[in-house]
This record gives sequence, C-alpha cells and structure tokens, in this order.
Amino acid sequence: MRQTEQSQKAFEKAKEYFPGGVNSPVRAFRSVGSTPPFIDHAKGAYLYDIDGNQYIDYVLSWGPMILGHAQDKVIEAVTKTAVKGTSFGAPSPLETRLAELIQKRVPSMEEMRMVNSGTEATMSAIRLARGVTGREKFVKFKGCYHGHSDSFLVNAGSGVATFELEDSPGVPKDLIKQTLSVEYNNLQAVQDVFKRYPDEIAAVIIEPIAGNMGMVPAQPEFIQGIRKLTEEHGALFIFDEVMTGFRCDYDSAQGLYGVVPDLTTLGKVVGGGLPAAVFGGKRQYMKHIAPDGSIYQAGTLSGNPLAMAAGIATLEQLTREDYEYMNALAKKLVAGIDQAAAKYQVPIQTTCRGTMWGYFFNDQPVNNFEQSKASDQQYFAHVYRELLEEGIYLAPSQFETGFMSTAHTEQDIEATIQAFDRVFAKLTE
Ligand code: PLP
Repeated sequence: MRQTEQSQKAFEKAKEYFPGGVNSPVRAFRSVGSTPPFIDHAKGAYLYDIDGNQYIDYVLSWGPMILGHAQDKVIEAVTKTAVKGTSFGAPSPLETRLAELIQKRVPSMEEMRMVNSGTEATMSAIRLARGVTGREKFVKFKGCYHGHSDSFLVNAGSGVATFELEDSPGVPKDLIKQTLSVEYNNLQAVQDVFKRYPDEIAAVIIEPIAGNMGMVPAQPEFIQGIRKLTEEHGALFIFDEVMTGFRCDYDSAQGLYGVVPDLTTLGKVVGGGLPAAVFGGKRQYMKHIAPDGSIYQAGTLSGNPLAMAAGIATLEQLTREDYEYMNALAKKLVAGIDQAAAKYQVPIQTTCRGTMWGYFFNDQPVNNFEQSKASDQQYFAHVYRELLEEGIYLAPSQFETGFMSTAHTEQDIEATIQAFDRVFAKLTE
C-alpha cells in the first residue's frame, strides 16, 4: 500500500482554508472516492508527493507541461527573467516574441491579446463576437468546457460534469438564456439552431477535440459543416484551443483539421506552466478591442514576463518530431490498454489524437456527452484508485483527458500498460 499519511494530514489542514480543501474542484478526488496526494515536487514525467511516492504523471498540470515538469530550459528562462523583475504592467518585447511564435503556427491569429487564464480568453472572445455582430446569443456544445465564466456554465464538461453542477447558482437565468447548447458531432442540431434563430447568433464556440467530456474528437465533416453554416449566417466561429493549442499537434487543432476559425483561444501549453492565455483572430475583428476599438478588455498581470518567458522557452523548443514522438507513445499506450482490457473482457473505448488520449468503460462508441455519461463511472473510479496505488497519476474524473509529454519514455508506457493489466486482473477476480 502507498503511504498517504502526510497527504491526509495536509488535506485535513487545507480543508480549514479552502472549500473542499482545494483551489479547483476536481483536484479533491471526490468522484473517484479518494483523496489527493499533496505534491512536493515534480521533474520530467514524474510527480513526487509529500509521503515520498512517485507517480508517472499523465495530467501534466491539466495539459501545460508538454516538455515535462521543471524542464531545464524553461526553468532557466523563468529564473533569468525573474531577476529582471516579475511584473511591469507595461509592454515588454517578451510579449511580442511569444506572439510571433504563436502566429507562425496559428496564422489565423493575425492579432491577439495576452490574458491570464483560459477562462478569461473565452470570456473575452465571446464578448468580442457579441460586440462585432451586435447579437447576443451564441452556440456551445454539450460536454464542452470553456472555463467558468457565467455564460459558459450550461451543459458544461470537466468539473461541472464531474459534480453534476449544470445549473450553478449565481449565474443569472436571463444571461444563460443567450447560451444555446447543442449536441456535439451533430451537424443537424447546429443547422436547426440557426434555423430557429437566424439573425441572433453571434458565434459558435467549440473544443475541436473535446477533452472535457473525456476525450472526444470532432468529426471533420462536423467542423467543416459549422464553418460553412457560420459563414452563411454571419456568425463567428471560435476554436477554443485552450487545451488543444500546441498540444494535439504542432499547428494545433486548426492545423490538424485544416479549418480556419475567426477567433481562437489558447492557454495551458502557451504559458509553459505559468499563468498565460491568449485570444485572437482575424484583424477585422480584433481591431474592435480597446484601445483600437470600443470593446473593453484589460488585465493587471496580462503579458506577465515570467509567463511569457516560460511560453517562449516552451514553444521555441517544441519540434514536429517531438509531436511525432509523443503521438507514437500515446498510440502505443492506448493500444496496450485496449489489449489489456480485451484480455479480461473489460468493455472499453479508447481515443487518441496527437498527445491527447483517453478511455471510456463503455461497449459503444463515444461521440458526444450523453454517450460519455453512459460509460461505467463506478468502474472508472475503481480502476482509478488501483492505478494510483500502482503509481499512475491520471485525471481523477471520467470527464477529463490524458496527456503525453516529451519527457515520457517507452519504459513509462510499458510500466503503465502493465499496471492497467494488473488492475484489470485484480478487478476481474
Ligand atoms: N477552455 C478549455 C477547452 C479548457 O480545457 C479549459 C480548462 O481546462 C478552459 C477553457 C479554462 O481554462 P482555465 O482553467 O485556464 O481558466
């Protein structure tokens, strides 16, 4: 058995200060019937908790740590920058350098603005879409999560789904009437909503590869169909690439799908493990942001030099070969999990796109939120707890995704597959 005494004590103490003892709900491990290891430090593909346990980490701080933890060049860039000052509240060349790197890979972001979190990025993108179209409604997809700002807390994935908090108190009912929530991978549903509100929809926002209802990629025809519909109806198409940006592929999801959105949001990888996010897109829209235009958006710590330095060091190092390497590891991992599940006749659906991967305990394919919710979540929780004992650290909810980093090795993958095998064997006994 894993030692957990120190983490348990730390958790009890944290509960005195924080709701549920945590600063973001899923971290509490409630949906898997467990309690969280408290982390002492992390290096490469591994987390080390305060009881001295080591874990192979597939959460990677929920996505950002694509080069692994405490990567030498990222740490060097952050430390060198910190010596020169940790925040100026004034422009610095670091912001422009990061923007250059972003635009090279995501050319649709002709102009952009740095913010501090994915929530801010999506919230600002929707404000911009509403501002430029003069319309108030927008379409989101059931099971997609776009952060925790009011308008998005409708049929949302991630922690909202994990804790079944679909109608969060505190969100004005009149506001969320403007959020039209339709089924993922169902183009007819999007057509229907445009038919119902032909001149009222400002934007359609999507996770092009959904990672917050478990991992469910959009079908290419679905994304292409939305691009066409939004053009026909004068609505903006927003790719929320907070998770997929520089994560699913070198050129992000828009490169992978070959679809050009009007606006894009980025987060996670773009900040290299520090708080940074971005929204941007076509100049014709971005020029409406203050001070060039009248749509207001601002931030005390936006473009923070430490976050910019970490983002730059991360993007400068990542090569196409790195993505091939991570992709191959992710494919090998899900193939191994599939094989282990088959051996013990465990019904499973695995998914893998680039460096994102996931699984559902389900005998039917999963293409939308309803199908994801129909998976065996109790069995997921059992498997989760056993894997944690084996030193495998995964997101503690069915409604999340696994990630891969350049720091993971073939041996890590082998060890993880063997752990899955032992766990399935144990639970089959
Ligand atoms: N959009 C997507 C697709 C996300 O996955 C997330 C967070 O997981 C967000 C937005 C919100 O980002 P943040 O947690 O940085 O506010």
